Amino acid sequence: MNHTSPARIGVYGGAFDPPHTAHHELAAVAIAQLKLDRLYVLPTGEAWHKSRTLTPARHRLAMARLNFEDLTQAVIDEREMLRQGPSYTIDSLKELLDAHPGAEFFVLMGADQALLFETWKDWQQIARLAQLAVAPRQTASSSGSLPHEWHNHTLIKATLLNMPLAIVSATDIRTGLEQGSEPAQTLKPAVFQYIQHHHLYMDHHD
Ligand code: ATP
Repeated sequence: MNHTSPARIGVYGGAFDPPHTAHHELAAVAIAQLKLDRLYVLPTGEAWHKSRTLTPARHRLAMARLNFEDLTQAVIDEREMLRQGPSYTIDSLKELLDAHPGAEFFVLMGADQALLFETWKDWQQIARLAQLAVAPRQTASSSGSLPHEWHNHTLIKATLLNMPLAIVSATDIRTGLEQGSEPAQTLKPAVFQYIQHHHLYMDHHD
């Protein structure tokens, strides 16, 4: 890291079940646009906001490593998977702040999560400790930009990531795989090979 100015550190959490090309694009754009020295990718343990049972942690971790392997600033961090109980961004953010005193932090998310941000545990504290960076994403209730009320927000400082809308979701990929279709543009070849090798999202896990 460059020690002449404060380090710029991104924090990017998700189920990554499976990690797909839009996750990669978001990370790559954030690294370039925000000039990140490091990007922590944090696959969730038990995500409090997802009702479905997630694919076992070891598989999501291995796929995340493959998905982000070409991004030299990206570090796949296991802390949320190792934590007992639900995973919350605030806990990881505080630990990372302790590990990088003086650094500037950016919490990354898609516009769908931005709309839910004020339901995140201790969101005010997150907003005090980090800036937010949001990727456009089409949602039922917005065209995928920053939430309106974030302009001139007293607490939230947010940047829109400059990337095209990517109509990709892990849910659609899982549904496609269950039905036997081959995801073309949406999974990196190495991730797709891993999925096939371990028979994920098909009949059974091994
Ligand atoms: P699912 O369909 O299972 O809900 P997902 O595709 O939304 O999964 P997550 O692992 O939940 O993937 O996403 C992690 C983060 O990446 C979230 O902040 C989400 O908003 C963002 N993200 C996921 N897909 C996209 C996309 N196509 N465009 C922009 N951001 C995205």
